[in-house]
Amino acid sequence: MSHKAGYVNLIGRPNAGKSTLMNQLVGERLSIITPKAQTTRHRIRGIVNEEDFQIVFSDTPGMLEPKYALQESMMTFVKESLKDADVLLMIIDITDPHLTFLGFETGINAMEIPLLIALNKIDMSNQADLEKTMERVKKVFPKGEVYPVSALHVFGLDLLNKRIRELLPEAPPYFDKDALTDRPMRFFASEIIRERILENYQKEIPYSVEVEIETYKEEEKLVRIAAVIYVSRKSQKGILIGHKGERLKKVGTEARKLMEEFIGNKVFLELFVKVDEDWRNKSNRLKAFGYKS
Ligand code: GDP
Ligand code: MG
Repeated sequence: MSHKAGYVNLIGRPNAGKSTLMNQLVGERLSIITPKAQTTRHRIRGIVNEEDFQIVFSDTPGMLEPKYALQESMMTFVKESLKDADVLLMIIDITDPHLTFLGFETGINAMEIPLLIALNKIDMSNQADLEKTMERVKKVFPKGEVYPVSALHVFGLDLLNKRIRELLPEAPPYFDKDALTDRPMRFFASEIIRERILENYQKEIPYSVEVEIETYKEEEKLVRIAAVIYVSRKSQKGILIGHKGERLKKVGTEARKLMEEFIGNKVFLELFVKVDEDWRNKSNRLKAFGYKS
């Protein structure tokens, strides 16, 4: 029997809806999704397996200009993801008035792989605007096939999915066909904690934290997880923990529930907060957190 397999890489500006779309296409809550930009720092793969095909979706950070060491390393992820793709799936937010791509247009147009464009969040638009935007997008990316969708409301995804399947090359599977993702569970544990921090704090806190899983131990009746949350300043540690530890406790409770849902087992979660000044620019730290290989 013939088998199709390929990498479908999602690209787009921060907040376009890449993670939402990938989760819908994969059918699991793999990528964390929040309204704040730059939530997705790493590449996350989600894998769809059927008897005769395997799709490896890859969610990348939004395209950004390198400013910090961290952002530079994010750009490496983006560039890498352009390299190994069989199909490029670009997500454009119809409510984003810029529709610009930070100079990536030429590079993308020069690529030989098929380009699918999901024009997302059409639930926030109307027919006239949709048509106008489609014209604009087609001018910038003449090769692109445009699919108007709403990732959030699961609209237009069937057509897009069908087209992706058609475009897959003949190939053996890249990953074990039972695999849902190539990321280890501890990675999702840290992403869930980070998501809860992004949701629970305002201002600079979310952007200056990093989460490291120190313990991930599967025991008979529960999974034991200990995580360190690194902040850049002592004042941030105080804010994070809150009065009598209330705020951190809330983060911990929410994260634990989500982990239990995801893992399908009871979780015992411990959170610690440590100060590590200037971690953003420390190359070795970035390495320890898995940004650099
Ligand atoms: P990413 O940064 O590209 O990964 O974007 P996310 O998937 O994290 O989504 C960013 C925000 O857009 C979240 O608040 C989503 O709920 C929202 N969003 C994603 N898709 C849609 C959509 O189709 N319609 C609307 N109204 N919001 C959406
Ligand atoms: Mg994302």
